[in-house]
Amino acid sequence: MESIPQVHASLGSRELEAVAGVFASGWPAGQGPMGALAERSLVERFGVAHAVTVSSCAAALHLALLALRVQPGEEVIVADYTFPAPALAVRYVGAVPRFADVRADTGTVDPQAVEALVTSRTVGVIAVDTLGVPADYDELQKIADKHGIFLIEDAACAAGSTYRGRPGGVLAEIACLSFHGRKGATCGEGGALLCADSQVAADSRLLSSFGIGSIFDLGKSDGLPIPEFTTVGYNFKLSDIAAAVLGVQLSRLDELLSRREVSAGRYSELLADDELIAIPQVPPDRTHAWQSYAVTLDPAVDRRGVASELRRQGIGCGHGAWASHLQPAFTAEEHCETSAFLFRHNLAIPMHAELTSSQIERVAVALQAAVQNNRTSTA
Ligand SMILES: *Cc1c(COP(=O)(O)O)cnc(C)c1O
Repeated sequence: MESIPQVHASLGSRELEAVAGVFASGWPAGQGPMGALAERSLVERFGVAHAVTVSSCAAALHLALLALRVQPGEEVIVADYTFPAPALAVRYVGAVPRFADVRADTGTVDPQAVEALVTSRTVGVIAVDTLGVPADYDELQKIADKHGIFLIEDAACAAGSTYRGRPGGVLAEIACLSFHGRKGATCGEGGALLCADSQVAADSRLLSSFGIGSIFDLGKSDGLPIPEFTTVGYNFKLSDIAAAVLGVQLSRLDELLSRREVSAGRYSELLADDELIAIPQVPPDRTHAWQSYAVTLDPAVDRRGVASELRRQGIGCGHGAWASHLQPAFTAEEHCETSAFLFRHNLAIPMHAELTSSQIERVAVALQAAVQNNRTSTA
């Protein structure tokens, strides 16, 4: 039987050609001409003042917290139901993540849960566009303004989404994107920091390249420029090989998104009437980027049994996101009930730009049968 992977990157001849161009140029390393081009594409696409390409979204989050001068011991409130990169980034700078519970319908952070966690040590909030659906930024910004704290958008999955007419990726003072192989636009591994503030952009760019700036640019200057290491910088640069691939993927963002939208719409039609399966909800004021399509199974269904049954038929699936506060890396005081529920009961089914309608139908039929076969009680 033909296998249907959960994720499949849509990379083709245009991306290969772009890579060949980098080989010919002789500059495969970071912060070269392809990196600059990808940054210009991000600025245009997102309508943002500054874009800094980096090696991952985790690196972008780390740089954002450094640029915002977060100090050890300070508290940053993070959305709990997510790939736990936000909480990890908080720990990278020695600060303390506080975990905020999420909305049951979207899995995005609940503004009331955020507000309840604000203390005199709180310096900011990292919201997440969960699996591609934007969080409640107007409400979150009000809370941030009221308490004089920053707001960061983890838009790792959100390229192509919208919130009240604005694109995901510019919904807070700093946004962090991912171009990891499982995201909607990819260059293998990669990320970007988008922001309005030129100092944040300059600091992030400098810290991403050991604190000395672009070696490619230095090579073009006269004489013998010797950069000085004045700060303990990192190597978070995106290679020009990856940046060339990214440039092509950014130009294909709408095409890739519209194909995922068609697939998501079809899944939702096919699964809407199943009492044991809750389909993803998208509030009317926003649109989903469909990085993942995750359903919530009724607690009376054995999720592991469903997953095994799908996998035996060659259908890829996964658990969706994590309840960050339950991960052993963090010693959380908070309990996030809704996030823990979604962590236990969500199931992500195949979602990518290359799915065919017959594959979608096969997945939906197999899922509904597996759910019936794995009812553990008659709740
Ligand atoms: C994938 C993901 C990340 C991590 O992205 P990398 O580019 O792999 O560092 C961070 N946050 C969220 C919400 C993600 O889904």
